[in-house]
Amino acid sequence: MHYAMLWESLKGELVQCRLCAHGCSLKKDGKGRCGVRMNRNGEMISLVADVITSACLDPVEKKPLYHFLPGSKIFSVGSAGCNFACSFCQNFAISQIPPGGRMPGKIIDPDALVEMAESHAVRSMAFTYNEPTVFFELVYQTAGLAQASGIRPVIVSNGYMSQECLLMLGRRLSAANVDLKSFRDDFYKKYCNARLQPVLDNLKTLKSLGIWLEVTTLVIPGINDSDAELHDMAAFVHDELGAETPWHLSAFHGAYKMTAHPPTPLPRLEEAWRIGREKGLHFVYIGNVKSLLGGDTFCPHCGELVIERSGYAVRLTGKAGICPSCKTTLPGIWR
Ligand code: SF4
Repeated sequence: MHYAMLWESLKGELVQCRLCAHGCSLKKDGKGRCGVRMNRNGEMISLVADVITSACLDPVEKKPLYHFLPGSKIFSVGSAGCNFACSFCQNFAISQIPPGGRMPGKIIDPDALVEMAESHAVRSMAFTYNEPTVFFELVYQTAGLAQASGIRPVIVSNGYMSQECLLMLGRRLSAANVDLKSFRDDFYKKYCNARLQPVLDNLKTLKSLGIWLEVTTLVIPGINDSDAELHDMAAFVHDELGAETPWHLSAFHGAYKMTAHPPTPLPRLEEAWRIGREKGLHFVYIGNVKSLLGGDTFCPHCGELVIERSGYAVRLTGKAGICPSCKTTLPGIWR
């Protein structure tokens, strides 16, 4: 049994979770919305503090991170549970634990995870596949050990952690890719069982902490892809996070409760790309689909090609992160 971090006792054996923006109050033997934190006899325990469902090497571009050690492999770890309930989740088998359902995964400890990462000689390690916030105890300990070993910790997140959680974890992070799933609170309520504002607040906090940040939007046709909403998202990324923040636009393919929903037409993604560029964002990328637009990185100063991508294959045209023509250093973590 693993005692959880970031919670407090309330009257009558209730416990209050402080890990994410839901702030669940749990009755005795009750679980939080994430399905992996539980009130046992008036104390909060984590059911996933030593559980992983996968640990493998991925191209860092798959996270996606395009301005972070390009062309390298990242040791990627996932556990179980999620504080969102997205109708379109591609990883629902590990993120959505049915009440009374068996917890997937196997037992491991932070030392063993870092040893595995070291055995692959990676420079970075991602907490990904399911929401890292909900297995915070494992992420926090492992990220600390990884950092001490010279391995850069990364999260791929929905951005719904509490500010307290983010400030603690932030000291141990080098980079993050965070979803901005929509710019409408109604979307977050209807499709994710969450709210928009905490995500916006956390994106700004991540930036202010100096953690390298890239933002991803899954563009779902007819749901979050209106011109007005794309303009709003692009304006937020530009005005609040900075023109240098990469914005990834991913193609939707049906999953979980939305298998019948059509995929994103390429022209719509390309229009979203244009909207981002017209707002002044220097780095807008298209993913999850083949496109002639939005795969490569160009120097924002002179327009020269700096990184060419084809799928997960990467070709640097000069020194990592440096324009071969005008020698501008592009924003990112390159070595
Ligand atoms: S992590 Fe979030 S969803 Fe899970 S118990 Fe805590 S507040 Fe609730």
